[in-house]
Amino acid sequence: MAISPGANAAHNALALRGRIPSLATTVNQEQQQNLFGFFTPAAGVHRQPPATARPEQVAKVITTPQGDVVLERSQRANNYRLTLRRDGTAVATIPARGTEREALRFVEQHQDWLERARARQRARPRAAEVWVPGARVLWRGELTEIRVATAGDKPQVCLAADVFRVARLDGDLRSTLEAHFARRAKIELPGRTWELAALTGMDVKHVTVRNQRSRWGSCSANGTISLNWRLVQTPDFVRDYIIYHELMHLREMNHSARFWARVAEVCPGWQDAERWIKRNGSVIGL
Ligand SMILES: [Zn+2]
Repeated sequence: MAISPGANAAHNALALRGRIPSLATTVNQEQQQNLFGFFTPAAGVHRQPPATARPEQVAKVITTPQGDVVLERSQRANNYRLTLRRDGTAVATIPARGTEREALRFVEQHQDWLERARARQRARPRAAEVWVPGARVLWRGELTEIRVATAGDKPQVCLAADVFRVARLDGDLRSTLEAHFARRAKIELPGRTWELAALTGMDVKHVTVRNQRSRWGSCSANGTISLNWRLVQTPDFVRDYIIYHELMHLREMNHSARFWARVAEVCPGWQDAERWIKRNGSVIGL
């Protein structure tokens, strides 16, 4: 799990662990970790091998005032844990030596938390599932309506000022538009990376733009920076932050305090970018 941050983040998007005194701090730390987990730098940074997934059996589903909660036993868990997954499923994890009765009590005690977590999830902006004219998708940081802009017999759509050719206007335009986004990204992101590398005096050897499901970017010790094409969908300040983040990994191949101090030096608004990612990452599907 340590090196597949996306899956981790998706599952623990809103998680709560038992036996920890302050709930607020717990949730924040959890979320922080997930966010930082988006950036997986060089192979050397996360040394531990991925945990071997053990089969975890579903015990049962219980009904609570805040909706159904799935009880799941985990050999790896040390504490009771309540998690609200991105798909809206609430899961209570029972640790190796835990009991179902304790889990029920834990869930009962944290009904308020679950209610707030559900409210936060509902309040998150949502992009359309099916991309048809009139639907809104994230483009350059804004939820933008897909509008038909056909010229002559060539079907086209536009998103704000950008125009994209499509084969046809009926059906789901998602794969066509995402392919366009990825092509734009391959042109724009390396250019911006070279620019910021020059500004910060970093020696970048190579920039690749990839289709990564679970990372915004990564960086290897030999000077290669890989970026997720979905960064063309985010606001410029978020895109720049991710680039700065990876650039600073060329100095510090870790997430130490020294690393974050370097990030803050070159990108003073990095925390705003982290907040944006936290609120909107799910819109992109990361
Ligand atoms: Zn990082």
